Amino acid sequence: MKKILSDLFGLNVITIVKLNGYDNANYKLTTGNASFIFKTYPNDPALFDLIRAEIDALLFLQKYNSENYPKPLPFKDGEYIKLVNLENELKICRLLSFQSGEFMGDVMHSTAMFSSFGKFIAQMNLDLASFKNYIIKSRQWQWDMQYFHLNKPLIKDITSPKDQNLVRYFFQQYEENVRPVFHQLRKSTIHNDANEWNTLTKKGLVSSIIDFGDISYAPLIIELAIAIAYACYDKSDPLRWAEIIVKSYHEVISLEEIEISLLYYMIAARLCTSACNAAHSKINKPENTYASSSEHKAIAMLYKWITFNPIHVENCFRKAAGYKIRNPEPINELIKKRNESISPILSLSYKQPIHMTRSAFQYMYDAQGHTYLDAYNNIPHVGHAHPRVTKAGQDQMSMLNTNTRYIYKQLASYAEKLLSKFPSILNKIFFVNSGSAASDLAIRMARNYNGFSDIMVMEHGYHGHTHLGIDISDYKFNNQGGNGIKDFIIKNRIPDVYRSPYNINQKSPGNQYAIEVIHKLNESKNKISAIIAEPIIGCGGQVPLAEGYLKTLYPEIRKQGGVCISDEVQTGFGRLGAYFWGFQMHDVIPDIVILGKPMGNGHPMGAVVTTEAIADSFNNGMEFFSSFGGNPISCTIGSAVLDVIEEEGLQHNAKVVGDHYKKLLMELQSEYNYIGDVRGEGLFLGIEIVKNKISKEPHPELAKYIKNKMRHHSILIGTDGPYDSVLKTKPPLCFTKENAQHVVDTINDILKTYE
Ligand code: PMP
Repeated sequence: MKKILSDLFGLNVITIVKLNGYDNANYKLTTGNASFIFKTYPNDPALFDLIRAEIDALLFLQKYNSENYPKPLPFKDGEYIKLVNLENELKICRLLSFQSGEFMGDVMHSTAMFSSFGKFIAQMNLDLASFKNYIIKSRQWQWDMQYFHLNKPLIKDITSPKDQNLVRYFFQQYEENVRPVFHQLRKSTIHNDANEWNTLTKKGLVSSIIDFGDISYAPLIIELAIAIAYACYDKSDPLRWAEIIVKSYHEVISLEEIEISLLYYMIAARLCTSACNAAHSKINKPENTYASSSEHKAIAMLYKWITFNPIHVENCFRKAAGYKIRNPEPINELIKKRNESISPILSLSYKQPIHMTRSAFQYMYDAQGHTYLDAYNNIPHVGHAHPRVTKAGQDQMSMLNTNTRYIYKQLASYAEKLLSKFPSILNKIFFVNSGSAASDLAIRMARNYNGFSDIMVMEHGYHGHTHLGIDISDYKFNNQGGNGIKDFIIKNRIPDVYRSPYNINQKSPGNQYAIEVIHKLNESKNKISAIIAEPIIGCGGQVPLAEGYLKTLYPEIRKQGGVCISDEVQTGFGRLGAYFWGFQMHDVIPDIVILGKPMGNGHPMGAVVTTEAIADSFNNGMEFFSSFGGNPISCTIGSAVLDVIEEEGLQHNAKVVGDHYKKLLMELQSEYNYIGDVRGEGLFLGIEIVKNKISKEPHPELAKYIKNKMRHHSILIGTDGPYDSVLKTKPPLCFTKENAQHVVDTINDILKTYE
């Protein structure tokens, strides 16, 4: 090679060192008194033209701050690029000056360095401002954010499905927030890859930039987004560092408000591009570790990025650039507006209600810029705004929505998929749109099946808001505004091991409670049509039915002709970790199961699953029709929810994180007299707040105090139970151990100051 270099450039090369490169080869050459970079590329005419265009840009830049950029050096005959036969292979070759300095990736970062970085990038953009090249302009490829979608096929190369879905989320955000306004953005020729291995520093300040191989003609703001993405992706507080770059960039080139508003999404988009391509090259070029080095850091920053409310990020950047922050409409105005048409009987959470604007996985974003950790809402089961669920809905919505009077494949295939999660005896399904509709239908079916009308319900149970739903919900009929118990209702007290008159240390503590019920059954003048119960009574304060209760009771109910209904609206779909359905926790198989809430991850869905015999008896000539139940959009969404539970291992996550969460809460319980009980399974837990552990007297004021305080610590949690003294936590199943730790630490802080 030394001989070739001497022939081509007249250089007397002493040493040659091969350097990292993405998909070309770079060599550092040293002669007696200077260093150079010799670059070789595969022989490709299109690439040849592109590199020539890049050389033109670099030659153009020599007119300005020439020391900031590599200088193209000519072959002996004055050409800057040539095809050369190297080791019997034709390669595109060129020579550049060597930029000295230390890579930004190798040195300590400081405010001064980041400030110089912002200014440097902006200065480069000024230097490039009037450069135009039609080859660069016409290039369409995945590293140009204008063609971000070209990276989509690479998402599947990311190893973890959870990481893939995080990336998919940001693709969707980009499509929604950036794509529609692209045409409004000022464009320029940009470097397009100001990463930490292309940026050189001297004495703690950015001194030069190399590798113009990704040069693009694109919206100018992309340059800044890329610079921020790589400078900040290994920081514990990326936003603070990003602000420094925004501020200093803006001092040189004034940022437009629209540009600032897109940075959140563009930074994420670049991280996604990096993660996708790194994952792809890990599979296709495993030997090139440089190409795949950024995947881990990019994904880590994306996980951090979803903890930032986009409004907050925009406001931080606006502040950095000297713009006024955007203030939301006053909450009181919004409440007033709501109350004009919405009855106050619909409650609002918290003394200071929250105006929510967006959400992502286990986080919710309000209009003021806060991010809330959602430790409460179980409906977004696989995560808020989950991209697989969103896409399933969007795609199907643009194709077909109709009803069960026509044939469409989604109905049968979703039914089959969902039923495969049940014991084989439960093999018929009826789709509706809510838990209420499902419980109403379940009771109707039970009555139809056995011709009896009495219903056995649980104390504090809740099953829905329809007329019949209220009749079977002690939580409603027996509380404020309720009309009391109807004569066809038989209520069983909650088989609770925390406040039990029985010896709870026996093998099946629910037995004695069940025996009480069996007496009632024997004494009842009417036969019981059905017993309906939640496996863990949510509104009752997350009380698991004592072990053995249902197992003893179900055969007795059946013996006298009744059917057993399990309301899995809260407990189903893997939430309990060790069990996909709550009835499995009790080692029973119901005759009817009610589904709702998590089924569509927020899309309104409900269902009744039952046996062939009960379904047959319901087929009595009166058509069953639900306009929306089982429509193709709902089926597609429901199917996506099941897929995500499976591919992200969310049931397993509920078990692992739930066990950890419960352990942390029990440790906290051992420290505070106020925590009487910690109970539940998986990610469906309750923390009973009491005045003290001996009296077990409920302490609703403290529970409410904690709930409201948690809101101010940006954590969503609920209270419930007969005295509203139980903290309820049932987060999306993507909740992490770190999230659990954060919740428990916050409760600890609140209790410490309360004491
Ligand atoms: N059953 C249970 C156990 C519930 O928690 C709920 C809702 N909280 C329902 C039924 C009713 O579901 P929906 O609100 O979808 O009508």
